[in-house]
Amino acid sequence: MSPIDTVLSRLDYVKPTRPDRWRSSCPACRGSSKSALSVGIGDNGSVMFTCFKTGCDVSSIAAAISLDLEDLFPPRDAHATTPRRRSMLTAGQALVVLDDEANFVFTAACNLANGVELSDADRARCIDAAAHVAYLLGEVSQ
Ligand SMILES: [Zn+2]
Repeated sequence: MSPIDTVLSRLDYVKPTRPDRWRSSCPACRGSSKSALSVGIGDNGSVMFTCFKTGCDVSSIAAAISLDLEDLFPPRDAHATTPRRRSMLTAGQALVVLDDEANFVFTAACNLANGVELSDADRARCIDAAAHVAYLLGEVSQ
């Protein structure tokens, strides 16, 4: 699991905003805002945080989700030997994935509209779907 995947799995109300950028609630100050925290991936593959509510420092945010600062960085040899890779997907392959994700979200939306509550697993799957679509956007816009 990469540092960003670990971090995103421990935050609440995660929402992708652009490729490699998310908003979530801040686990350190626990304010009422569901988008106080900006989460991003730096050039070296490390996870970056900005708390717009009370300006929580990175170590408090990491500690609040039971991580050490070093957990925010990719394993040393991984980023030493991996330059920014090229896209691995064609636009057509990306559309197939997008279609799957759209179908999942559509089904979840229909369930919600019919008063069916989403399970934790389905909620997590929705977040994954949004993250996958943001990832695809990054892949095809390189
Ligand atoms: Zn905060």
